[in-house]
Amino acid sequence: MIKMENRKKKDDRKEIENTKKTEKILNIKNRQKTKNQQKTKNQQNTKKMQENGKRISNSPRKNSFEFEKGKKEKVKKYENVQKKQRTDENKIKYEHNLSKVELKKNSRCPVSEKCGGCRFIDVPYKKQLEQKKKDTAKLLQNFCKLEVVHGMEHPEHYRNKVSAVFTHDRKGNPLSGVYEEGTHYVVPVEECLLEDKKADEIIGTIRGMLKSFKIKVFDEDTGYGLLRHVLVRVGKTSGQFMVVLVVSSPVFPSKNNFVKALLKAHPEITTIVLNVNDRRTSMVLGEREQVIYGKGFIEDELCGKTFKISPKSFYQINPVQTEVLYGKAIEFAGLTGKETVIDAYCGIGTIGLIAADKAKKVMGVELNKDAVKDAVQNAKRNQIKNVDFYQKDAGAFMVQLAEQGAHVDVVFMDPPRAGSDEAFLSSVVKLQPDRVVYVSCNPETLARDLKYLGKNGYRVEKAEGVDMFPFTSHVETVCLLSKKAQ
Ligand code: SAH
Repeated sequence: MIKMENRKKKDDRKEIENTKKTEKILNIKNRQKTKNQQKTKNQQNTKKMQENGKRISNSPRKNSFEFEKGKKEKVKKYENVQKKQRTDENKIKYEHNLSKVELKKNSRCPVSEKCGGCRFIDVPYKKQLEQKKKDTAKLLQNFCKLEVVHGMEHPEHYRNKVSAVFTHDRKGNPLSGVYEEGTHYVVPVEECLLEDKKADEIIGTIRGMLKSFKIKVFDEDTGYGLLRHVLVRVGKTSGQFMVVLVVSSPVFPSKNNFVKALLKAHPEITTIVLNVNDRRTSMVLGEREQVIYGKGFIEDELCGKTFKISPKSFYQINPVQTEVLYGKAIEFAGLTGKETVIDAYCGIGTIGLIAADKAKKVMGVELNKDAVKDAVQNAKRNQIKNVDFYQKDAGAFMVQLAEQGAHVDVVFMDPPRAGSDEAFLSSVVKLQPDRVVYVSCNPETLARDLKYLGKNGYRVEKAEGVDMFPFTSHVETVCLLSKKAQ
């Protein structure tokens, strides 16, 4: 009897052990499944972000994407980065089919492998330019010869916009940096060869202040914590600095003292804005803003004009090369003072306002309402009266103009990385401007759109590259198209 009971107990124990074993296996499998699902989801999200989002900057800092459609992003602790198996695809991912450049282990940038933003970080600058010219020329070979890629004299620390995502390590110490390429893991970054040095210092100072002000960084897993991102924008000519603290809630403890301490460490800061982003979203900036110091915007100068830049407005990230780019675009447009000009995807109105002196009338169209407000004020600021700005989808605006049978001589178009759309391009064809000046930050979508215009009565006259993004694989191209003789 006892023996039987013992055996039963033994059998029971065995069964429990077996069940535990099975559960363990199932758990591991499930965890693996969830991990794989998460990975696929992340990859899909990243792909979607690239499709949906305008990458503001081509920065190695992944969080500088500005996404039209919000997607949840997970911020993981840095330690996890070590454990993560990286796929080859993660390691070597190229945009615009640019030639493959292996990132070195002993790179001049300690985080270049993980960040992945600077494909050319260890390539001599002259070679970078040659490579960009070769690769872009290949993409444009069916349309025209790419004359040149204009490079920089001093190609470092050109970025006027720096954005850092905040998280913490296992011990709760705050960290700030960039998302590891293709993931939502945060790689700590102290300084970056591309970014404005002072902007990096400001981000470091803020990180250092968090503990004493008892400000918790945001944890996307738990939704707990306040500080999500810090964005610093610099007017390289004006010397003005804007700090945007992106927080999960509008209640910022000891706000005034925080501002005081930050200004004491960095008197160069001219404005500080709280941006509330309480959504699970891939967008860095939320809708609500509260100016907590200064005017809430900065100013900068380009091609002899002054521009107001709000936290959410697009502004080219390399002002030195932007002058080269805009100079070329305006030269290509061949303005004589008699033309009606469209500045499509106009941002804060820069191209149109610079062209306005040489045109009869300029119409700027832009989707982002803050940018349009800036554009209207920029016209006033520079006493330019022959410009109107419209807040609208550029395609819809052009369709409307075409339906009204408007007369247009020159179209500047500077769309986001995704390029333009058929509504826009077909309306250009309907409007029949003499010249189209296409400014593009993505030669692949440029080639696609040139093909459409080429089939519909336009010829590419010339194209030049401007290296707006040294050390990265990105390049800006400006193209002149003219109406073929009928
Ligand atoms: N020409 C400007 C901005 C170029 S960036 C400059 O040089 O600064 C592209 C701009 O297109 C961004 O400001 C973005 O907000 C805007 N944009 C994106 N999609 C748009 C659309 N469908 N219609 C109008 N503007 C759009």
